[in-house]
Amino acid sequence: MRLVITVAWLSVVAGCAALTGVARAPAPAAAPAAVAPPPRATPDPRALVPPDRSLELDRAFIGRLGDRPIQVVRGLAPPIEGATPPTDPLLLPYSPRTYRAGVHEGIDFPARAGTPARAAAPGYVVRIDRDFTDWTAGELRTAIAEAVRLGYTPPDTLDRIRGRQVWIDQGRGVVTRYAHLSAVAAGLAVGDAVAVGQVIGAVGSSGFPEGGPHLHFEVRIGEGYLGSGLGADELARVIARAFGPGRLAEAGAAGAQGGLEDDLDGLGGDRPR
Ligand SMILES: [Zn+2]
Repeated sequence: MRLVITVAWLSVVAGCAALTGVARAPAPAAAPAAVAPPPRATPDPRALVPPDRSLELDRAFIGRLGDRPIQVVRGLAPPIEGATPPTDPLLLPYSPRTYRAGVHEGIDFPARAGTPARAAAPGYVVRIDRDFTDWTAGELRTAIAEAVRLGYTPPDTLDRIRGRQVWIDQGRGVVTRYAHLSAVAAGLAVGDAVAVGQVIGAVGSSGFPEGGPHLHFEVRIGEGYLGSGLGADELARVIARAFGPGRLAEAGAAGAQGGLEDDLDGLGGDRPR
């Protein structure tokens, strides 16, 4: 209200000055407005979406598992219609990415550019990079050289390499990420509820054109990701289970040692959305 009053008062003063013909020095040329860099990614989505209390509880629960591997997710639908999860180790999580001194954190589904990318489970959209601006070849080269020099891929670099993304929160600390998209589905907005199979974007190669069009699909679990730290056999089992029968509503986290799965099933009453 004070601002409105001040503005109104200033208008009156200006009006009086005009009416009385007070001589005024010409206004100095306005300094050029600072040009904001083009948006390239949504900031931390948790800052945009008020966290659902039950999701926070889920995350807290997963956090209590400490350093035990959390690898149980079931009932995901393939994010590309009719696709089966790849078996080529290079397309799976935890595969080395020496070009950037890092590891792969997702599952790559080969697909033509423009192929619809679909929600692998019901959930809520927590991030959309509708305005993603790809980096130039030079910027990408510089960032990769820096990663190699550091001996790891800095998070900002990794995030930009993932290109245009949509993230969906499935509850229980599970978030699926759809990366390298060429476009985001029209009308889709942060906070929207999505159904399994709903088209959320189109396959592309944003963020890392050299990789060619494919869907980079990540399943984040708590602070980690599905497949992290697993050897080939266990990884194959975990991925088969992720896309096997069951609903994500029944998904949970469990230690590879077993037993925790039952604990999770006993959570009850707080089905992820
Ligand atoms: Zn990938």
